[in-house]
Amino acid sequence: MPPIADAFINCKICPRECGVDRTRRACGYCRTDSECHVSSVCIHQGEEPVIGGISGICNVFFNHCNLQCLFCQNAEISHCSTNPQPDFGFDQTLKQIIEILDQGIETVGFVSPSHLVPIVRRLVEALKQKSYNPTFVYNSGGYDSVESLKNLEGLIDIYLPDFKYADSQLAKSFSDAADYPEKALSAIKEMYRQIGSSLILNDKGRAERGLIIRHLVLPEQIENTRRVLNTIADEISQNVHISLMSQYYPTDSVLKHPILGRSITKSEYQQAIAAMEEAGLHRGWIQLLDSQQNYRPDFSKNHPFEY
Ligand code: SF4
Repeated sequence: MPPIADAFINCKICPRECGVDRTRRACGYCRTDSECHVSSVCIHQGEEPVIGGISGICNVFFNHCNLQCLFCQNAEISHCSTNPQPDFGFDQTLKQIIEILDQGIETVGFVSPSHLVPIVRRLVEALKQKSYNPTFVYNSGGYDSVESLKNLEGLIDIYLPDFKYADSQLAKSFSDAADYPEKALSAIKEMYRQIGSSLILNDKGRAERGLIIRHLVLPEQIENTRRVLNTIADEISQNVHISLMSQYYPTDSVLKHPILGRSITKSEYQQAIAAMEEAGLHRGWIQLLDSQQNYRPDFSKNHPFEY
């Protein structure tokens, strides 16, 4: 990857490697130029219990995304066909993060940052220059470039990637990224190289360093779930923490989809849990099935997770 300031000129920031000049206009797959684009900076308590602890995490939600998942549960800000509002620039984003840190929040999470890695780096460096040293979390869809991740080495404390698919056809159909399985595996291997599998907690039980891999169980896709979990166990480590999520619910855009038009069943989630155990993955979290009702953000509000 070229020096961080030049990375936008021949953009290969994510695995799509569009090669476009984002300093001129938003002409790549992600439809994002080289500026900071953030829809919300807010305190969020819906992450895994160790992330953010009791007080919550300051989450920074980036607009647009390098994956265009049919079922995206943050579609109002991530789908490139829409122009999300609000759309905070760098200074406003930094100011809002600082306001939240000044309230005593100790963790900052960057959500869907894969197409704006240089901005993540600038934000972290700007905070450190102002003597703010929270725990930094990189929370991505897993479709990350290894070279981009190398630019974050030493700056990110917790990697929190998805590993959505081990099945290339499924990745193509649902997220328009046939190479997702191999690219996500390479990216997570790089995260593991930087951080290892140990999750380091402080005396309040809040994570300060580590790797947690999320997998969202989808309807009728237990075989994909099994392959994802076996891949993690075989190619990364059985000691990695897994967050096995049951919270999938169909958004309006997929209500009539033949597969994605329903939530998962209790039986499907039980099979997923059994697959995790069979793979020898013994660390992590499972969810209550009623989590499907709990994750319904509204990004038009200042606090998208308050109902
Ligand atoms: S970050 Fe955007 S423009 Fe750059 S390679 Fe990825 S999708 Fe293309």
